[in-house]
Amino acid sequence: MSNKAAVIHEKGTPDVFRWEEWPVGEPGPGEVLIRHGAIGVNYIDTYNRRGMPHPWPVPPLPLVLGIEGAGTVEAVGEGVTECAVGDRVTYASPPHGAYAQRRVMPAKRLVRLPDSISDEDAAGITLKGLTAQFLLRRTYRVQPGDPVLVHAAAGGMGLILCQWAKHLGATVIGTVSTDEKAELAKAHGADHVAIYSREDFVPLVMEVTDGKGCPVVYESIGKDTFTRSLDCLRPLGFLACYGHASGAPDPVDVVELGARGSLFVTRPALMHYMEEREDLVAAAQELFGVVSSGAVTITVRNRYPLREVAEVHRAIEERRTTGSTVLLPFA
Ligand code: NDP
Repeated sequence: MSNKAAVIHEKGTPDVFRWEEWPVGEPGPGEVLIRHGAIGVNYIDTYNRRGMPHPWPVPPLPLVLGIEGAGTVEAVGEGVTECAVGDRVTYASPPHGAYAQRRVMPAKRLVRLPDSISDEDAAGITLKGLTAQFLLRRTYRVQPGDPVLVHAAAGGMGLILCQWAKHLGATVIGTVSTDEKAELAKAHGADHVAIYSREDFVPLVMEVTDGKGCPVVYESIGKDTFTRSLDCLRPLGFLACYGHASGAPDPVDVVELGARGSLFVTRPALMHYMEEREDLVAAAQELFGVVSSGAVTITVRNRYPLREVAEVHRAIEERRTTGSTVLLPFA
């Protein structure tokens, strides 16, 4: 059976992708073979393509990147109970290998999809939606009336965080780089938006919070914003430093966290929050619930054939995308 994939033989620029045959193999015990309908693109994939350090292990070269996909189960290995042939499933987890038409995946990492969510929508919301779930409900549990700061508010994570935080009753303050992105963030729940490419966001946060600061900042930019994000926190506030699109932030001075008001800083990652299958299934149920109620609309704004993944990586790194981006493996 032919199986094409976007393979990389070296780490580097988006030019490293090659559209090639890639062996898929049979599912072993506890594994399933999935025919992808759509594949999710995540900023994390660009860290891995470049070879930046990241907590999710990357296999040796040559390799197929990608940790999010949705499709149909074509075969199951021995002992699989989580799904059956013909089921539609989605996942957001290592092992890498999603940038392919078909792949083998551990069944325990899969979630069955409701009929109401297409493969494209699932590939646009599974990883980012599960991440939003743990950030808003577990890393810090957002309460009605909380002012929360969401960086890159028009991005894939940003549009989901804004909508979901708003649904929980938060006052959402977003940051974005352009006027167009500001409008988009506002249309998805942001009450206030700072355009941080030309203005400091701390004064806006202080104005909205009567000088108190936020109980939580969802920080995904890293180096460029980290210290100013700390400036936005009230005493006992949480800095959820869940990504670093501009590069890793400088080391944290723990003594300074005390002086600033007993602050909490964490670097939360999806793989740790979803390690236990019961946590994964519960988070997915909550995610599908907010999607089916209409509280969170799925924001797939960019669709490309998988074979054009190099252009997709360029677009996301050059900040040209908004919302989620999916790849179509058979287009
Ligand atoms: P996005 O669609 O949000 O793209 C990244 C955005 O970051 C850009 O659109 C841009 O928005 C902003 N940005 C700011 N500075 C830079 C820069 N120097 N270079 C590039 N972009 C920059 O991507 P995702 O939704 O896929 O991911 C968002 C973040 O969430 C990433 O940092 C990612 O690593 C993290 N993440 C972490 C997870 C975890 O488990 N910890 C899971 C999922 C995502 P603007 O132009 O408005 O500034």
